[in-house]
Amino acid sequence: MKNYDLIVVGGCSAGIVAAINAKRLYPQKSVAVIEKLPRIGKKLLATGNGKCNITNLYALEHDYVGKGFTLYAQNRYNPNTIVSFFEGLGLICYSDSCGRVYPESNMAASVVDALRFELERLGVEVICDTPVTDIKKNGSDFVVNDEYRSKKIILAVGGKSSPSQGSDGSGYPLAKKLGHGVTNLVPALVPLCGSPEITKPMKGMRVGEVTLTLKGDKTLAKTQGEVLFTDYGLSGIAAMELAASAQKYIDSVKQNPFTSIDFMPKMTYNEIVEYLQNLCEIKGFCNLDNLLTGFLPKAVGIAICKASKLYNGDKKIEELTLKEIKLIAEKVKNFPVEISGTKGFVNAQVTSGGIKTDEIDPETMQSKKCKGLYFAGEIIDVDGGCGGFNLQWAWASGMLAGELRD
Ligand SMILES: Cc1cc2nc3c(=O)[nH]c(=O)nc-3n(C[C@H](O)[C@H](O)[C@H](O)COP(=O)(O)OP(=O)(O)OC[C@H]3O[C@@H](n4cnc5c(N)ncnc54)[C@H](O)[C@@H]3O)c2cc1C
Repeated sequence: MKNYDLIVVGGCSAGIVAAINAKRLYPQKSVAVIEKLPRIGKKLLATGNGKCNITNLYALEHDYVGKGFTLYAQNRYNPNTIVSFFEGLGLICYSDSCGRVYPESNMAASVVDALRFELERLGVEVICDTPVTDIKKNGSDFVVNDEYRSKKIILAVGGKSSPSQGSDGSGYPLAKKLGHGVTNLVPALVPLCGSPEITKPMKGMRVGEVTLTLKGDKTLAKTQGEVLFTDYGLSGIAAMELAASAQKYIDSVKQNPFTSIDFMPKMTYNEIVEYLQNLCEIKGFCNLDNLLTGFLPKAVGIAICKASKLYNGDKKIEELTLKEIKLIAEKVKNFPVEISGTKGFVNAQVTSGGIKTDEIDPETMQSKKCKGLYFAGEIIDVDGGCGGFNLQWAWASGMLAGELRD
């Protein structure tokens, strides 16, 4: 049996920085990372469309699920600290106007390389191709797969989203065996399914800066940003950010929620009515298909006219009555799409739900149930929106867990 002071289970975002921090703080201790895939950092390579959106400078203001629990770690390892950490590894970073931080190379591989080389420099042992299937407590030690013994364990195996990148939910039974509870798990940051008869004719059309409101028996969530119409429903960041709330509602109430799309949040309903009346003057001779092309793709404009029950391709814009203009304005501000589900964990960027946060000390990431066991990253019941917030949590919680404080 091989003996270590620390075994980190899971060799991606949270696990790698946990191992780096531990080895930096305790250079004499033996540290190993055990990863089931042939290489570490596979999911990182896919992040940010291959660019890796490392963090977000506004993460402290961000509305994470489990925000209260995250605050200690997020303050201690805030986004600026994380950027400095990466710059200390030789990685040059830049941020955009939304606070999203990327490597200057715009290549996630640069991030993985920087982390890999630091593990190597520090002498952390990386054991790949080794799925951890069993962790037992043996006195004050842990025995992993009956093959490795360690004084401390950091469990950083992710959730169950995007299983092709390694995180297949195999961490939850390991944690349960060590005394932990797991909340309800739903896919998050994933496209929404529903109303294909409405969305399919708009397939491939993107509309930026819309407001989406998810409604069930009350307003469930609200997002702003881009929506992309697909043959099965809605994608784009604003839609994906509603997925966890939609799935939780469907699971609990057994009813489908609706997404109301406001295609023109910058204008009030009355301003849109006025604008449409003006269009009757400017392009009254055109047919209805072209009514909304001044600010929307043509196919989306047609769908809005259809939803207003007005669609008649031959109808001229100048023939619209005030009542009909008001119906169209109403659909520009409130275009309903029924949501029947999501594209599931296979396509999800994140898992919403995980190890119960009240069973983990937020100031150390140590288990309250099992001394010497620490958690980091997505396996915990914490998740955030698109824009670098989930990696920020992975780094912050990983760094904190790596301190190995009691
Ligand atoms: C396509 C995509 C794009 C994304 N883009 C961004 C982005 O740009 N910015 C952002 O902030 N977030 C992004 N995310 C989310 C982000 O990648 C995750 O939140 C983050 O990687 C979670 O880190 P983690 O280390 O906790 O888990 P993971 O990154 O999932 O890592 C877990 C590791 O543990 C290994 N493992 C799992 N089970 C076992 C086992 N039993 N034994 C041994 N090893 C095991 C896995 O193979 C994996 O390497 C994206 C996610 C996806 C899928």
